[in-house]
Amino acid sequence: MKPSTQRASTIGNPLRSRCFCCSPPLSPVRAGTGKNPLQTVRDPAKADLRLADFTPRSMLQVRRTRVDHPAFPVIDAHAHLSWMSSTRNGVGLGEDMIWFAAPEDLLPVMDRCGIRTLVNLTGGIGKGLEAAIARFDRAAPGRFRTMTEPSFEFVAQGDYPQLQADALAHAQRAGACGLKLLKTLGLYLRERVDAGALLAIDDRRFDAMWATCADLALPVFIHSADPAAFFLPTDARNERYEELARHPDWSFHGAGFPTHAELIQARDRVIARHPRTTFVLMHVGSQAEDLGAISACLDRFANVHVDISARIGELGRQPRTSRQFFERFQDRILFGTDAVPPPWGEDVPQQRFGDALYEIYYRFLETEDEYFDYAPTAIPPQGRWSIYGVGLPGTILRKLYHDNAARLLGLSA
Ligand SMILES: [Zn+2]
Repeated sequence: MKPSTQRASTIGNPLRSRCFCCSPPLSPVRAGTGKNPLQTVRDPAKADLRLADFTPRSMLQVRRTRVDHPAFPVIDAHAHLSWMSSTRNGVGLGEDMIWFAAPEDLLPVMDRCGIRTLVNLTGGIGKGLEAAIARFDRAAPGRFRTMTEPSFEFVAQGDYPQLQADALAHAQRAGACGLKLLKTLGLYLRERVDAGALLAIDDRRFDAMWATCADLALPVFIHSADPAAFFLPTDARNERYEELARHPDWSFHGAGFPTHAELIQARDRVIARHPRTTFVLMHVGSQAEDLGAISACLDRFANVHVDISARIGELGRQPRTSRQFFERFQDRILFGTDAVPPPWGEDVPQQRFGDALYEIYYRFLETEDEYFDYAPTAIPPQGRWSIYGVGLPGTILRKLYHDNAARLLGLSA
């Protein structure tokens, strides 16, 4: 039947000769040809639902595998159990600490969720670091490890490189297992902490810090940049619009900030200059949206690892590419969640320490379940999408959950 003949006959009796549910409109409504049979009346009362009130429930009836215990003991290599209590412009100052939890708050969850060791990245410096190690590492040996942080407040002093090297040596003697950098470097830290020019990630004054970490065999856990969408306008085209609307201070668009690409390039120049230093790039190197780019970084630099913390929302919406990524770099990816104990973690549901958080990570890594939430909350907090499991085999899970971090952090098997 010729198309023109079909069109003519269908207009005469659309319900009998055509499937109503899958037909495109037959023709635009034209005077004299009758009403478009697919046109319906809109309900004006339903036209102005606010995005914030839209909480759809998926009608998919798909497998829901409960994985409340991981296939192997877990080292969560990215948690925050303490924080420097004094900060200015996002830069930690001094040695006093805020404690987010006590070991007895954490251990029951760790035991239920199969977490052998929790690594507290933000352990501070000096006396604060010593107190963090006493509070966690010593109170429950083997269950907690603590990292130190840079002494950024002294960067303008002429003796900063030596002071920083001494602080790292002290931290290691105290028991720190690595150096953690927040995104402070590149996005907040200025010449006089909160005034003057932003310091670049590859500022030469930090060369002694990177080199000392190599000398002391302290791995550097570095968070550079942030999700790509944080560097774009917070507008109707931004895939993290709701997240940025809730946290306007997370936007680094304009206002004198470097671009995402500039930050990544500066980070890579540091890595290139310090091949003896081990770098673990937090949050899939802030490049989880572009696994080709972070794969090129891993190919280029043998001294680079990544963690997956707070990025299963990105990895899980590209499960086939992610699975290839896990297979290819199975010796260089660390399990981490960026967990923050409640109530401190309430504002970031994708990081709220608890059973629900770990169950989602395990489900993502161990199953091939389809279309599930990446955070235990009604509205996906980072963007409106769902994720798919990557169903990794046991050989890879064992490295990811435990062996890669144990090797880097010097934890016994
Ligand atoms: Zn973190």
